[in-house]
Amino acid sequence: MSEESDLDHELQALAEQLSAGDWRTVLEAETALVHAGQAGIDVVLWGLSHPKAGVRRGCAGFLDHHGTDACFAALQWAALHDPAPSVRRVAVHSASCQRCKPRPLTGDLVGLLVQVALSETNRRVRENAIWGLRHQPQDARAVAALQQILRSETDARLRRDAHHTLKHQDPNYRARVDAQARERGIAGARARKSDQCTLEKTEHAVGQRVCDSSQKAITIRCYPQLSVASQKVTTTCLQLLFLRYSRS
Ligand SMILES: [Zn+2]
Repeated sequence: MSEESDLDHELQALAEQLSAGDWRTVLEAETALVHAGQAGIDVVLWGLSHPKAGVRRGCAGFLDHHGTDACFAALQWAALHDPAPSVRRVAVHSASCQRCKPRPLTGDLVGLLVQVALSETNRRVRENAIWGLRHQPQDARAVAALQQILRSETDARLRRDAHHTLKHQDPNYRARVDAQARERGIAGARARKSDQCTLEKTEHAVGQRVCDSSQKAITIRCYPQLSVASQKVTTTCLQLLFLRYSRS
């Protein structure tokens, strides 16, 4: 067996070692593959087609920290076509994550993430793609995809993710939802103040009535204009008032 063939087998064994359950073993393989330079990257790209999903996932994860532009096509293929959702998820992350690499990859990241966000069948993979768009520059394709998800998606978590990502991608959407949130806050404060005024008037009126007529019991009326919380408070206040005035 030639020296070159021995080296290939050694590197392939290191790529397979990336799927080990023990993080120290994985770190050892990762360090050796980085040390091997381009040959290490090449064998990791070979590992993306390994029959074992764990090895493919480990190799996709390796490229999160060490991937170069030359790895984008292989990661894109894995993100869209690998049969294992866990491999697709890690490939989506590794292709689009900008924090873990010395330099972000420069392929059509938005195009890949939009495709995954719209066509992927696994929710976790879609979540990764939608969150990935949050860290990409504003792009009309991302805005259109996120709007489509908000219009048609029934999964609450995916809708929430799309909402937050669209706030980043579309300044007009952000301004609109922020204005609506402010209006809801003002309306809520007004309703709470109105509830408080009605509650004080109710306590005063009932207290007077119990005092004047010396009734032994009072009927707790329901005030539809009060919130549920205020109705509970009102009920408690009326009971206390009844006890106080019926003893006097
Ligand atoms: Zn990362």
